[in-house]
Amino acid sequence: MLELIVTGVFAVIIAAGAVQLFRARARISAWRAELHGASHGETHAERTRTATEFERRTAVAQWERQRDLLVAAVLLLLAGAALTSLGDPLRAALPWWTRLTGVAIFLAIGIIGITAVILRSTARARRLALLCPRCHAPLTSGADRTREFLRTGRCRECRLEVFHS
Ligand SMILES: [Zn+2]
Repeated sequence: MLELIVTGVFAVIIAAGAVQLFRARARISAWRAELHGASHGETHAERTRTATEFERRTAVAQWERQRDLLVAAVLLLLAGAALTSLGDPLRAALPWWTRLTGVAIFLAIGIIGITAVILRSTARARRLALLCPRCHAPLTSGADRTREFLRTGRCRECRLEVFHS
């Protein structure tokens, strides 16, 4: 019974996250299209470097990261739910699907999910030019660092002025 309650609570949290993502979707896709347009026919240095542009880049990166996390969480939820009594029909239908197999799949999804979120996050920072042009440090990893960067326009590591604040 407890495991069903826990599964239910996680499902509600994930659903709330999905609603949040969905509501921001129109704004984010407009900004994404704008950023995509800006990267055509202009070199890196020619791009307007303003606080607003970086705020939007950061918002796009954060939204896409949230989406990745949500996908990983849904997969984890399904694997988790299969471990509860909800997985009984599955275990009846597939003789190889023992509790141990279920736990192994759950752990594998957790590890692969976290790795994928991190790798995709790094690639995204590069794609959205959210790395310092001089020292290549991430400009928007972590809430504190992001806030400071958007306020000052400077790389925290080498103090390069990335945009004029
Ligand atoms: Zn730097």
